[in-house]
Amino acid sequence: MVSLPYVKSNIAKKTRKLFNKYFRITFLCFCIGGSTGYVSCEIKETQIEGFVKNYDIIIIGSGGGTKLVRPVAKKGYKVAIIEKEKLGGTCLNRGCIPSKMLIHAADVAMAIKEAHKYQLQIGSPEVLFDELVTRVCKKIDEESESIRPVYEKDENITLYNGHVKFISNTTVEVNGETLSSDKIVIATGADAAVPDLKGLSDVPYMTYRDALRNTNKPKKLLVIGGGYIATELGYFYGALGVETHFFVRSMLLRKEDSEIREEFDRAFSKQFHVHKKITLKEVSHKDGIFTLSYEDENKSLQKMEADALLVAIGVAPNTKELGLENTDVTLDERGYVKVDPKMQTDAKGIYAIGDCVGRFLFRHSVNFEGEYLERLLFQKQDEPIKYRPMPHAVFTYPQVAGVGVTEDTLKEKNIPYVKGFCKYSDSAMGMALLSEYGFAKLLFHKETKKLLGAHIIGDEASVMIHMLIAFMNMDASLEDLLDMIYIHPALPEVVRNAARDAQKQYS
Ligand SMILES: Cc1cc2nc3c(=O)[nH]c(=O)nc-3n(C[C@H](O)[C@H](O)[C@H](O)COP(=O)(O)OP(=O)(O)OC[C@H]3O[C@@H](n4cnc5c(N)ncnc54)[C@H](O)[C@@H]3O)c2cc1C
Repeated sequence: MVSLPYVKSNIAKKTRKLFNKYFRITFLCFCIGGSTGYVSCEIKETQIEGFVKNYDIIIIGSGGGTKLVRPVAKKGYKVAIIEKEKLGGTCLNRGCIPSKMLIHAADVAMAIKEAHKYQLQIGSPEVLFDELVTRVCKKIDEESESIRPVYEKDENITLYNGHVKFISNTTVEVNGETLSSDKIVIATGADAAVPDLKGLSDVPYMTYRDALRNTNKPKKLLVIGGGYIATELGYFYGALGVETHFFVRSMLLRKEDSEIREEFDRAFSKQFHVHKKITLKEVSHKDGIFTLSYEDENKSLQKMEADALLVAIGVAPNTKELGLENTDVTLDERGYVKVDPKMQTDAKGIYAIGDCVGRFLFRHSVNFEGEYLERLLFQKQDEPIKYRPMPHAVFTYPQVAGVGVTEDTLKEKNIPYVKGFCKYSDSAMGMALLSEYGFAKLLFHKETKKLLGAHIIGDEASVMIHMLIAFMNMDASLEDLLDMIYIHPALPEVVRNAARDAQKQYS
């Protein structure tokens, strides 16, 4: 396919109107001197004020959606990228990156607090909270601002800042302009979900957006929620000296393997106040103090006061106010966009990736989907998406990480398995670290000995899990794990010991 140059204003007005009338005109040109014969040439974009601008692809959302922007533009296609907030999406501006930058300070504080275990006398750490949060925000804002000039420099990329709405299956509207394409990608992500709690809408509570930019260190923080966002952010505040209370309907990290969950609960409850099996009743705010009323696990009514409240019960997809009612796109009962195995929605030519689809809610999963879609749409790859084993990690103390199935799922599905288990404290490095918590748990298929799942809780779990992600990607079996030579006495020996434990059960 050969592209004609961008249609600029020097084209006669009448001709431009004609182009616009038909949005996209495909010419058959003869490739002079070439051996390819006839090739089709497309007008990439028509820039007529107040009229429709046509693009080869329109991408809505600059998080994982950016995976398609530069690679597609590099191939000579015209790309429109639309973003209503800061460039970079949740991960950069209010998710993975700022949270981990802040949590690193919490980890250092924890190490200092634990130093006495190693006969080191260090006073308790004092945090310059305002300076810490300001440093992190400054860095991520700089990173976000660095994206714009890159896009502006590229003549194939047009950046629109504004809230987009669909008008039809092929047209959207942003800032009063109408854009069209036969390929539109919805990558609008998700935002903080808010519970239906009496009084909540009248009080100045924080969601993760505010909690990551809050420069005032509270004395006492109430956290509603027990998933990874709640535990990570609560850990950040708690480790830096804020009295932190978690309020959870059932349990902490309820999606984790049950043994991991129990170990996490044991460790976390020693550091922070965890109120489980509670029912929230009402919240109010007066003179800077929140009062949370709740029923405890014995059904007795309780109240707790604090100077900060974080609501972190999870996320809800950004699919409202997108004008999807003007398209054939359909949503599931929770509001996530329905897609087929090629990430195409029920509307031909409209695709969706990432949190708004809700298959996985990670930056690494939306990256994978975005890269797949780029190959599908612009590299003529035609297979359905084939997800690799999807790992996850929780950056708390202790850390949690996993890949593949949990033991609970294996039991539910009656899949025969063998479990290998090793505590951190039963390894040489675990002895050096004086690990009080932590283990690795490996799950193998009973007959094939293939690795089906791996779950780690403890120091460096988010790093340790990578060897098991690699093994699962390679469809490895127990022998593969035992065949390799491990560095003695590095922490991955915990994984090897768990594999040896599984091996014993086969013999
Ligand atoms: C506190 C926190 C910590 C996290 N930590 C991790 C982590 O450690 N690791 C990990 O993998 N994941 C983490 N996540 C999850 C991760 O950030 C998301 O899964 C990921 O960013 C989703 O990417 P996305 O492209 O689907 O959506 P987003 O990154 O949210 O991008 C969607 C974009 O679309 C824009 N948009 C929405 N509607 C419109 C509209 N109508 N018009 C124009 N623009 C629109 C939004 O402004 C947004 O910028 C974390 C999330 C949070 C909240």
